[in-house]
Amino acid sequence: MNTAVKLTEHREYGCIDPGQTEELLSMQLSILEMIANDMKTDRVLEELCYLSEAMLPNSVASIMLFDETRHHLNVRTAPSIPAEGIAYLDGLKPGPKSGSCGTAVFTGEPVFVENTLTDYRWHQFRDFSKLFNINACWSMPIRSSNETTIGSFALTSFENRKPDYFHRCLLDTSAHLVAIILEREDHQQRLQLASIAFENINEGIIVTDADRRIIEVNQAFTDITGYQLEDVIFRNPRVLSSGLESPEFYHKFWHDLETYGHWSGEIRNRRKNGEVFTEWLSVKCVYDDNGEVANYVSILTDISQLKEAEEKLRHLAHHDTLTNLPNRLYFQDRLDQALSHASRMEKRLGLLFLDLDNFKNVNDSLGHQVGDELLQRVSEQLYKSLRKHDVIARHGGDEFLVLIEDIEDPLELRHIADHIQENLRHPVHVNNIEFNISASIGISIYPDNGTTRDSLLRNADAAMYEAKKNGRNRVAFYTPELTDTVQARVSLEGDFRRALNTKQFTLNYQPQFNASNGELIGAEVLVRWHHPQRGLIPPSEFIPIAEETGLINELGCWITTTACHQAQAWREKGLKEFQLAINLSPHQLSDSCAFKLARILDTTGFPAHLLEFEITESLLMESGCKAIQQLFSIKELGIGLSMDDFGTGHSSMSQLKHLPIQKLKIDRSFIRDIPGDPNDVAITRSIIALGHALELKVLAEGVETEEQMEFLKREKCDALQGYYLGRPITAEGFEAILNNQ
Ligand code: C2E
Ligand code: CA
Ligand code: CA
Repeated sequence: MNTAVKLTEHREYGCIDPGQTEELLSMQLSILEMIANDMKTDRVLEELCYLSEAMLPNSVASIMLFDETRHHLNVRTAPSIPAEGIAYLDGLKPGPKSGSCGTAVFTGEPVFVENTLTDYRWHQFRDFSKLFNINACWSMPIRSSNETTIGSFALTSFENRKPDYFHRCLLDTSAHLVAIILEREDHQQRLQLASIAFENINEGIIVTDADRRIIEVNQAFTDITGYQLEDVIFRNPRVLSSGLESPEFYHKFWHDLETYGHWSGEIRNRRKNGEVFTEWLSVKCVYDDNGEVANYVSILTDISQLKEAEEKLRHLAHHDTLTNLPNRLYFQDRLDQALSHASRMEKRLGLLFLDLDNFKNVNDSLGHQVGDELLQRVSEQLYKSLRKHDVIARHGGDEFLVLIEDIEDPLELRHIADHIQENLRHPVHVNNIEFNISASIGISIYPDNGTTRDSLLRNADAAMYEAKKNGRNRVAFYTPELTDTVQARVSLEGDFRRALNTKQFTLNYQPQFNASNGELIGAEVLVRWHHPQRGLIPPSEFIPIAEETGLINELGCWITTTACHQAQAWREKGLKEFQLAINLSPHQLSDSCAFKLARILDTTGFPAHLLEFEITESLLMESGCKAIQQLFSIKELGIGLSMDDFGTGHSSMSQLKHLPIQKLKIDRSFIRDIPGDPNDVAITRSIIALGHALELKVLAEGVETEEQMEFLKREKCDALQGYYLGRPITAEGFEAILNNQ
């Protein structure tokens, strides 16, 4: 591209005098001056044409450029050619006989036509040359820096002429200057584009010098960080530092930059207003020709919103939506971490398994909305009763887990559990209802009671059951014996499901007598489980399992159907009619309960008035109003209801008045010590008096001695049941008793 060098190449054509050299150099100088002054390209090209024309009198200059997409030449600049001429020239296809310019571009060689009217290359353009009075036309290809021909520079003359050496130099110089001017234009355009991109890109950009001093930032940088260029110019990008990244972080950062020439990753920086934000940062070294770092270019994207969204998602995945406490998944993670930490540091940790007492009844009787709100309140209280570093999670339903790390003494866990229970003691109000919530807590300790997540959870769960069994609102530590009971329970549960299908249950009947005349008036149905391996299992062991697993409904249905069938068969045999008393678990008092009973009566044909259900007081009170509604529906069917185990619960007399019952069964624990124990005597007396005052029949159960019977007769107790009068007996045995009546 060095024009001065190019000039010498044409020495073969002859010499130019110093004056002509001067002329050429001065043309170059003025054009370069124009470029330096940032004159517009079109103006510079025009000036070049004028300057060339001035050096060849009676001529016009033209610059044609090759349009690569259309494969033809167009006039770029020709200030002395009229518009009609330009219109004629535009669209010229390069070729071997394409005038001077078309041929020069086609061959890449200069074309000097002395006479356009005779030259074969102008054959097709005779009209044109005549019209514009053209005689000679010299054209020089314009080459870009990579040596491709991009157009032509031509001098067209109105006389027949042969170029001399100076003219060739003039054409050559002008063509080179055009190339330079156009390349500058291209470069400028690219720079302009780059600068538009720089300012409009969404990513913040920082350019520093080799000494890491900021020399340029873009608009997005200002938008993101709040810093203007003036705030940060010549400062180290450290001004953005949040102080949250560790020295190791920066160590790695510089190590990567120096080794690989780039680094990218997340970094927390600080905006001008002090706010910390997370950005995705890419830093690249820009090297100079010697391979030394000349600049660092950093591109930063504000990803704090992305981070927030990510955080939200993580929170959702790890938290329970109802209570906003961490969920089981999160807890397991934390427990795993805590376990590996504890094993490394040889520390203890404690796991609390917490279950709210009687919560199910709230849900059943007051609905899920109240239940949910209550759970939220309780969660808040639980959360408040713990220390910051303790982890609490909702395990599901009304169960919660608490992780306590760094335990010195298991007693600490006891204190924490006590503290939780104490905090729960404050009544909670939901929908204007006051709730007194209590919780049973089971505790397992690492490594004493297990070294894995699962064993610790299982053992804390077992301890919780133990706590429940000991009466609600208790705390129990795990002991190895618990595993046995839990295992026994678990296996019993599986056996129980099978037992229902394989007829391992039978029914016993225990007679009930009129106290005044000794007449058999009823029989209580008592279920028996004959376990194929373990023999007879008492109902006190399997009824609670049936209740917890929900299998009580199926079992209860079977009991009622079987008993009604049996009793109806006895009736049809003409045997003595009596009241059939069946124990009903409150868990059976579902919405469809009365409906199911009606169907059983229908299919067995047993009359409703001979059927009676025994229901326990304490359980009924916990079940709430829905269960009580069902009792009314049962009563409406004509079925009798009696209150079992009376005296052990806490129902008030006024409540009793509002229940649809006709009979009280005095709990056998009061009967056991009469007439010796004056306390029990007093209680029994008052229950009988109370029952009668409420116009209820009173039955005493657990009558084992004559004294007890005599006492109850004297006190005007209506009915008696107990071993003294008759043990629970199989259907055949009971049929024999009926036959004797
Ligand atoms: P419960 O309803 O209080 O049943 C009376 C229990 O007292 C029966 O025990 C019976 O065998 C026992 N018993 C009867 N007379 C005497 C006596 O003179 N002295 C003593 N010490 N005990 C006597 P069982 O059959 O073991 O039943 C225990 C509990 O299991 C029952 O208490 C009842 O709550 C439940 N249960 C039994 N059968 C069924 C049933 O078919 N359905 C439901 N839901 N629960 C049942
Ligand atoms: Ca009973
Ligand atoms: Ca009872």
